[in-house]
Amino acid sequence: MSVVVVGAGPTGLAVACALRARGVPVRVVDGAAGPATTSRALGLQPRGGEVLGRLGALGDLPQRSVGIGRVVIHVGGRRAGELRVGQPTKLVRQPGLLVSQAEVEARLRQRLEQSGVRVEWDTQVVGVEQDDGGVVLSTSAGRVTAEWVVGCDGAHSAVRKGAGIGFPGVPLVEGFVLGDVRVELPLPRDAVGVWVRGEEMFSAFPLPDGVWRFMAPAPGVAVEDVPAFLAACADRHAGLRIGAGDRWVWTSVFRIHRRLAETYRHGRVLLAGDAAHIHSPFGGQGMNTGLGDAENLAWRLGLVASGRAGHGLLDGYEIERRPVAADVLDSTSGLTGLVLGESALARVVRDRVLFPLMGLAPVRKLIWEQASQLKTSYSRTRFGRRPRVGDRVAEFASHPEFRWTLAAPAGNPCVSVARDLLGDVREVHRDGHALLVRPDGHLAWRGKAEPDALRRALTAMLDR
Ligand SMILES: Cc1cc2nc3c(=O)[nH]c(=O)nc-3n(C[C@H](O)[C@H](O)[C@H](O)COP(=O)(O)OP(=O)(O)OC[C@H]3O[C@@H](n4cnc5c(N)ncnc54)[C@H](O)[C@@H]3O)c2cc1C
Repeated sequence: MSVVVVGAGPTGLAVACALRARGVPVRVVDGAAGPATTSRALGLQPRGGEVLGRLGALGDLPQRSVGIGRVVIHVGGRRAGELRVGQPTKLVRQPGLLVSQAEVEARLRQRLEQSGVRVEWDTQVVGVEQDDGGVVLSTSAGRVTAEWVVGCDGAHSAVRKGAGIGFPGVPLVEGFVLGDVRVELPLPRDAVGVWVRGEEMFSAFPLPDGVWRFMAPAPGVAVEDVPAFLAACADRHAGLRIGAGDRWVWTSVFRIHRRLAETYRHGRVLLAGDAAHIHSPFGGQGMNTGLGDAENLAWRLGLVASGRAGHGLLDGYEIERRPVAADVLDSTSGLTGLVLGESALARVVRDRVLFPLMGLAPVRKLIWEQASQLKTSYSRTRFGRRPRVGDRVAEFASHPEFRWTLAAPAGNPCVSVARDLLGDVREVHRDGHALLVRPDGHLAWRGKAEPDALRRALTAMLDR
């Protein structure tokens, strides 16, 4: 078996689906007894939706999700303004979706099963050994061998530790609580509510099926006390009453860290998702960043595992994706600091300057485009004609297949070169210059539609 993915969360499932789409045999092992039924992430950003679309795993998620049009901000109990979100811009035409992570994982699992792979549950990885030829995993279900291992086993990754990869960083918030409660509230279901009062903060997100998610910072609150604590917050900040008959679906207590793996690859072991980066949930970026890692890694690993590319092609994974995670760590830490107001001065600036600024159209657009993750470009230059190599090519990125695309004049021989070196390639007719677009929707090459030029470029890219 060439590739073993450890962890059947959104990242691991997406890696496996993308590898199967490229025809690579894969096993997925997970230490849990079965799929998670509760949901940490609830925000599927436009880029995350696009990745699921390419993998054929979006299914009915848009219909199952809650449409959010605004974030309503209250300061000291009074409405202070609202940030409109999800408004179409030139870059972002699709909405973000509020949908449970458990549902995202279910769609990915269904897709994976359609491609002939079932998750192997109850298989906890406890050790990792590797040499030049492959990797041996020690698991609770016995030894598992692989040519390549992708560690998607979350923040406490045993694969990362086993491979000796450091995970430096710091805790950001000592205690945070969340609770999902099925309750009727006198709040609009197209809006997220945020209440701040000095150092205190409380938020309410509408979820599908009449559920609301409450979140608040709360150092030292035990998990069994979360319902009472959040009910008191809801009452004090927003005047919302949670009765004894309202059902708490899930509660959790967690700390917020920001950490980034020292490297994304050690030999034949690669990391993706929370195993490689963790940060604040503010801004809803974690699962979406993991989905972006997954497809970037999978097309490369697919070519390496099938012998079409040298190991050097994998270097581009860390070069492209680690800076994306570093940016996410910075932006989500900044947002957390802003909303929680870490000092008296910071709180005055937050309440009197930053919140009002968020209502302005250009600021709104900036925040929404950044959050959408559609701005992501791997271009190494700021100059040149667009799309530049590394840019997302919007025209092809929304195509619902995880395939290479060659856009060239009809009958042009470049397509034979691309198929010879890459395997399966979709052909699209286009006059003028040729464009070769990667399965993840980013431009791999552009140039005169000359087969020799394309062969030279691909040979270099494939490290052959
Ligand atoms: C409160 C909260 C809200 C959030 N909201 C959002 C949001 O709105 N949008 C967003 O994009 N992100 C959000 N996130 C972040 C998001 O939940 C994570 O980034 C996401 O779950 C990461 O997915 P993953 O597949 O990398 O890891 P995980 O989801 O952690 O999956 C890891 C998998 O590996 C398995 N595993 C662990 N150890 C082992 C082992 N040793 N052997 C075998 N299997 C193992 C686990 O059982 C699990 O199935 C939020 C997080 C929190 C805490």
